[in-house]
Amino acid sequence: MTHKNPTYTIVQNIRQLATPVTNGKPFLRGRKMRNMETVDNAAVVINSDTIEWIGKDADLPDQYSGNANIIDGSGLVALPGFVDMHTHMVFGATREEEFAMRCSGATYQEIAAKGGGINNTVRSTREADKSKLRKQTMRFLDRMIRHGTTTVEIKSGYGLSENDEVKMLDVIKMVKEDHLINIVPTFLGAHAIPPEYKEHREEYVELVCKKMIPYVARKKLTGFCDVFCENGFFTLEESRRILQTGIEYGLSPKIHADELSPLGGSELAVEVNAVSADHLEHISDKAIEMFAKSDVIAGMLPGVSFYLGHDYAPARKLIDSGAVVALATDFNPGSCVSYSVPLMMTMACTQMKMTPEETLTAATINAAASLNIADKVGSIEKGKQADIVFLQMPNYMYLPYHFGENHVAAVMKSGTWLEYR
Ligand SMILES: [Zn+2]
Repeated sequence: MTHKNPTYTIVQNIRQLATPVTNGKPFLRGRKMRNMETVDNAAVVINSDTIEWIGKDADLPDQYSGNANIIDGSGLVALPGFVDMHTHMVFGATREEEFAMRCSGATYQEIAAKGGGINNTVRSTREADKSKLRKQTMRFLDRMIRHGTTTVEIKSGYGLSENDEVKMLDVIKMVKEDHLINIVPTFLGAHAIPPEYKEHREEYVELVCKKMIPYVARKKLTGFCDVFCENGFFTLEESRRILQTGIEYGLSPKIHADELSPLGGSELAVEVNAVSADHLEHISDKAIEMFAKSDVIAGMLPGVSFYLGHDYAPARKLIDSGAVVALATDFNPGSCVSYSVPLMMTMACTQMKMTPEETLTAATINAAASLNIADKVGSIEKGKQADIVFLQMPNYMYLPYHFGENHVAAVMKSGTWLEYR
């Protein structure tokens, strides 16, 4: 069921409303990530696509009740819509055969050496046309919103040629126009060295810097430039050059840093003032201190550690040091085939020792800040976009506690009510 509201929409009798308290800040840092505001027996008033009023049901001003569409929120907990700040959800084909190989003992690196891994997805994505990619991505987005995600970042990076990277960004643009979910595109032409450039990688870096970045910036296909800084992918020097070229063209830097080895991508993130540095499984203690003093947002992707059997990033240490931590799925066909943000919250709690409050902040307001949209989404506050997820559970702490179940009963996306009860 879905309907647009003529004037006000009021969701009443909400069992509990919980949201990070921002006090006008774009993100919450360190232990402040635990600052959670809760209202029991709450009501929310939505004017078109914007939050107009939040408070106790009993305090609902009369002015709203006249010409309003009333929705009953009994038994439901209201949280800000989840912001999945790191995904690779446009791709040609899934890779369950590789998963089976890993289950039989092959490592991710061994599979990559046999033509699997990212290069496998590059092949299938190059072969796929836009309409096939669009159709599959729309299907994933339908499922994601069903799991409470109302904003998602999507990276290119499986094309790795001028045409195919633009094809991916075009697909992201198409689904952005067609789907209710907010979509934030990121250019990741430097995801891997494509096989045809294996022997002369410098030419690929040249192509990214001289052709791709200027083109995607001129066409306004993205506001972000990302790079996979890792042994076997892009060196620290190459990553610096790519991100700085992006900055010259007005693209905010993002980086995949220190995932498999402590290469120094985290330090580079601080150096270029990246909006976010994601993964960080092997971040150095020195870089943790640097993050604490900078606004670089540390993107935690525990689903990857879980799925590949790798170490988890030191989220506890980052938070205790005062860093800004976000949480995402990294949904992609190789290293995390899940778009459930609540599942990532459970992993963040049990494996990285984050508190439920910290995981909620990380997956909402801090994730929104990593996409430069914390002024619009990421918390339930007056004036923000009405992106609210309603879950069938007793209180907000229940979400990471009871895992493997989808508790989402309804989603309010930009004022549109989607009900799943
Ligand atoms: Zn990634």
